[in-house]
Amino acid sequence: MNGLQIKDILALPGDSREIAVDGWVRTKRESKNVCFLELSDGSSINNIQVVVDLSSRDLADVIEKITTGSSIRASGFLVQSQGSEQSVEIAAKAISIYGTAPADEYPLQKKRHSFEFLREIAHLRARTNTFGAIARVRSSMSFAIHSFFQERGFVYVHTPIITGSDCEGAGQMFQVTTLPLENPPMKDGAIDYSEDFFGKKASLTVSGQLEGETYATALSRVYTFGPTFRAENSNTSRHLAEFWMIEPEIAFCDIHGNMDLAEEFIKYILTWLLEKCPDDMQFFNTRIDREIITTLRGIIDNRFERITYTEAISLLEKSGENFEFPVHWGSDLQSEHERYITEKVFKKPVIITDYPKEIKAFYMKLNDDGKTVRAMDVLVPRLGEIIGGSEREADYSTLKKRMIDLGLNPEDYWWYLDLRRFGSVPHAGFGLGFERLIQFVTGMQNIRDVIPYPRCVKTLEF
Ligand code: ATP
Ligand code: MN
Repeated sequence: MNGLQIKDILALPGDSREIAVDGWVRTKRESKNVCFLELSDGSSINNIQVVVDLSSRDLADVIEKITTGSSIRASGFLVQSQGSEQSVEIAAKAISIYGTAPADEYPLQKKRHSFEFLREIAHLRARTNTFGAIARVRSSMSFAIHSFFQERGFVYVHTPIITGSDCEGAGQMFQVTTLPLENPPMKDGAIDYSEDFFGKKASLTVSGQLEGETYATALSRVYTFGPTFRAENSNTSRHLAEFWMIEPEIAFCDIHGNMDLAEEFIKYILTWLLEKCPDDMQFFNTRIDREIITTLRGIIDNRFERITYTEAISLLEKSGENFEFPVHWGSDLQSEHERYITEKVFKKPVIITDYPKEIKAFYMKLNDDGKTVRAMDVLVPRLGEIIGGSEREADYSTLKKRMIDLGLNPEDYWWYLDLRRFGSVPHAGFGLGFERLIQFVTGMQNIRDVIPYPRCVKTLEF
């Protein structure tokens, strides 16, 4: 490992100190006597320029073998740059090659490739500006999320990835089994899961919430941040089959505390991003979405509007817009509706609460009207829903009745119901899809481009 990364070197003065730098060649420009190499080591969106004097025979010989994508070490003097693009550059004294990248085979030759093409070479796309920036933003945002919760006394809980409870997303679950698929053991005309690995049917988790609640009702404030799996059988730009989710769960907290936390959380992580990743964000602002920084600042600086679902429906009915999905009280809000409310009506984030119980999950607290539940969705301009959460039903009988009404078997949830039998407390929480967040803050159009290796229906190359 070399001492300094390019991001650190670029911040040094050009005082002719001797320096060595390792990286991959992004571009090579040659004139008669001099060659310019743009070198990247992924530490920053900015490359360092290496200036090579071709009148030196040794250097000229090495340069000949170097093409875009080659990995090299350049050593020389750090000097003030002549060009306007960068402040310092390396006047090369010696260059050694780690590995070449044959120009007729290395696919990243052009400056810009389509994102579709880059998805086909996902193993190399992190070497481009966009995907390098996304990787750094993902990393920094992960840290921001942990930092936010840790500063507030939340305990990071690792909820299971394999689960025996098929919670919310019945049809959306990936099954986990060691049974032979060609010839599974049968009993009374059905597959005999007692012979499966766990002795029962098992799946990959679609949410850590229920287990999160069990820890929140012991440790008061917890959060999860882990992989989540949903067999989303549709090709959208917002759905992955494997994604990461952040789910805080708070005891002694109602929906208002939950909304306050969600708003504070979003503002904290966006502020963090603009502070810690200014160069990458400038890149996204220039190359991906010219309004992204303004949008993020708008979110940080504005109080989130809070309205009920009923109010939202009446705004939509009065809108005069020609929506693809017509709205009426009782219908679920589609992203076109969510965007109308945030972009056209309020021009800032909006939290919508108190949805009809029919369109929300069984665990949400029933309001006194018997018709709506204490759900809260946080909507942002250009994306729609970014967070979904609720105050949880803390009353044993009401929860059990909700399960039965929805065709769930309370016996399958005996441990979850126990939380309402023993020291039940008001509690609330929410879920934030990490990739939706990254999509939103970078302005990237497709969710497949904000995770290193997207898993989607009918695609699993890597
Ligand atoms: P949607 O209506 O967009 O499918 P949902 O109602 O299924 O979302 P929740 O069950 O509330 O979503 O999940 C919590 C959060 O997880 C969502 O707000 C979203 O940010 C994210 N999310 C849900 N499904 C996916 C997915 N397939 N890929 C990526 N993120 C997802
Ligand atoms: Mn969904």
